[in-house]
Amino acid sequence: MTTLAASTLALAGGEPVRRTLLPYARQQVAEEDIAAVVAILRSDWLTTGPTVAAFEEALAARVGARFGVAFSSGTAALHAAVFAAGIGPGDEAITTPLTFAATANCLLYQGATPRFADIRPHDLTLDPTRVAAALTPRTRAILPVDYAGHPARLSDFRALADRHGLVLIEDAAHALGAHFGDRPVGSLADLTIFSFHPVKHITTGEGGMVVTDDPLLAARLRRFRTHGIVPSQSAAEPWRYDLIDLGYNYRLPDLNCALGLTQLGRLEANLARRRAIVATYQEAFADLPWLTRPVEEPDVTSAWHLYPIRLNVETLTADRATIFRALRAEGIGVQVHYQPVHLLRLYRERFGYHGGEFPLAEDAAARLLSLPLFPAMTAAEVEDVITAVTKVLRAYAR
Ligand SMILES: *Cc1c(COP(=O)(O)O)cnc(C)c1O
Repeated sequence: MTTLAASTLALAGGEPVRRTLLPYARQQVAEEDIAAVVAILRSDWLTTGPTVAAFEEALAARVGARFGVAFSSGTAALHAAVFAAGIGPGDEAITTPLTFAATANCLLYQGATPRFADIRPHDLTLDPTRVAAALTPRTRAILPVDYAGHPARLSDFRALADRHGLVLIEDAAHALGAHFGDRPVGSLADLTIFSFHPVKHITTGEGGMVVTDDPLLAARLRRFRTHGIVPSQSAAEPWRYDLIDLGYNYRLPDLNCALGLTQLGRLEANLARRRAIVATYQEAFADLPWLTRPVEEPDVTSAWHLYPIRLNVETLTADRATIFRALRAEGIGVQVHYQPVHLLRLYRERFGYHGGEFPLAEDAAARLLSLPLFPAMTAAEVEDVITAVTKVLRAYAR
């Protein structure tokens, strides 16, 4: 019975649901974006001109923060946040294993040690109870991730950080426009980072930003972005500058900031479209026994960067890898977010992880599949995803 259904799958030579691959995420570039970038090309400033500050101010205002400092990528923004927090050799910070490698790498860049704590199986974010249990005298920061756009337990992390004198750095690469309670993500942590990679909510090509309310942190971030240089204070010798930190060239050009500004203008519509697609998925998959749908806690508003399902592999005759390939063959560009960071080779070799350390994250990571979700998706594309997921899982039903 299952073999009959499986033979209709594109993987087995059957007719695919789609002839072209629908990606899991894709940027949306409008005519106003193109016009804004072209206007910069005709202006005096290509790199650091007035558009950088305009983008920083607009984004910071949108997320309820005093200062925004733009960077050449979300990864550079994370690196700068760790620098600004004063974290260095001998220091540790605790983050989630279920994230992109950059979240932990930023600590290694500064000679600090990433530690991990397991996740909440419900919303797949870092578990504050487990973080509290993992604190050591060397812990300097907590680095939660708003997985898939769903805010981590920020009130718990805020309390924990305040109680122990730790810095709270939030990786909100997935969560531009999310809320925790009635507060926007960007207004709760000491330093919050966003990414503007094309798969994220708004894009600048490559790009990122750190937002903070602290003027001293903002000054350190700005210095780090430009080599660690401070300009001259001398009227007599105005060529002078000095170098007071080891910084980098992590600047985000005016060209990119112009794109970010027009993209930001469409953020609300983008968030609403994501939410509508998610509502359609949630309803379509409500009665399928072969998967677990993502959740949204009642006290948060997710930004729905991803729509990650978890396969109930016990109810299926195929493993996740087969289902991944079967969906790709149907023209559905599924993706896995993420392989647990501690099990990547660099982390295994440097820290001796071998699996089993964070069983909840490891179990989730083995079941996860992100389905396509981006604002430009048409209703027909959303239906293709639903058709293909239902077709493939039904074919492999135990
Ligand atoms: C995208 C992403 C980053 C890095 O952002 P880049 O702009 O690609 O450097 C960091 N953390 C998470 C969770 C991300 O998804």
